[in-house]
Amino acid sequence: MSEEKPKIAFYWAASCGCCEIAILDLDEAVLDVAAKADIVFWPVAIDTKYKDIEAMPDNGIDVTFFNGGIRNSEAVHLAKLLRKKSKFLVSFGTCAHCGGVPALANLKTKDQILERVYKTTPSTVNPEEIYPQTSFKVDEGEITLPELLDGVYPLDNVVPVDYYLPGCPPPKKWILAGVTAFLTGELPPKGSIIAEEFALCKECPREKPEKHSIKEFKRTWEVMNIDFEKCLLDQGIICLGPATRAGCEARCITTNYPCRGCMGPAPGIIDMGAKMVSVLGSILEEKDETKMEQIIDEIPDLAGTFYEFTAGKSVFLRRKN
Ligand code: SF4
Ligand code: SF4
Ligand code: SF4
Repeated sequence: MSEEKPKIAFYWAASCGCCEIAILDLDEAVLDVAAKADIVFWPVAIDTKYKDIEAMPDNGIDVTFFNGGIRNSEAVHLAKLLRKKSKFLVSFGTCAHCGGVPALANLKTKDQILERVYKTTPSTVNPEEIYPQTSFKVDEGEITLPELLDGVYPLDNVVPVDYYLPGCPPPKKWILAGVTAFLTGELPPKGSIIAEEFALCKECPREKPEKHSIKEFKRTWEVMNIDFEKCLLDQGIICLGPATRAGCEARCITTNYPCRGCMGPAPGIIDMGAKMVSVLGSILEEKDETKMEQIIDEIPDLAGTFYEFTAGKSVFLRRKN
């Protein structure tokens, strides 16, 4: 990196905003970052205009941490712009990495979503069926809006990404590890996912049986007195630990709630839903294939359960490329 302070940017696309708040949550460490680097773009905290970024030289930003998936034409423009202006681009948070919760919208088409939101919700009164326009003329001039894409795309579907910092939001320890790597220049190999290199079950402190033997699956509210010590899967509660990358220190599990997969797929796993179906199949007491299928089909909201955070990367769901 150059002699002068490194330049860092943060950006949010189709994001809930909490990835940006997670940076603020670094507490006093954020002051260290601010002392060691110039933060040139950070919509949640500083008022930089797009034209200021456009005026920068290519590769003028040392690293951009980009959170949120790609949902509209404005996010595509910013992804391409920040890619061009940044030496390194980090896919920050699970929405940028795998689409996150917003990518569950990929289960519906764009037209279905617009119709639901602007026409058929019980609280909507829209007899003229007016839908958002990308351009609208008023006396004062033209008002424009970004165009909604046909789905939610992970960042690396749109531009090349150098590193990934997964999590919803990424855990503090990994944000600091990532930022420190850039500030010191001690970078992992390109393409690395900055988190643990194993599945969450290894990080989980619960007792794991040698062999599971489950008759059926239940939702958390259907189980009275969930045992704090025992593996949740062993209690018939679907926990995505076997398919999820470790790094969060099992933060849901330690509150007696099953993992929903927000750190994204564990190393070697391409599709979390496919992995979980295989895991659940292998731990069922029932071994007749038809009956096993029935038990798995009875799990309510299969897509929402298995792909809550990774629908944008699922090879089984409507994949956008
Ligand atoms: S990854 Fe989670 S915290 Fe970050 S923007 Fe998406 S929903 Fe919000
Ligand atoms: S399945 Fe869930 S509860 Fe069981 S060991 Fe893995 S992470 Fe822990
Ligand atoms: S336990 Fe699972 S859902 Fe909860 S924070 Fe960790 S990875 Fe995310």
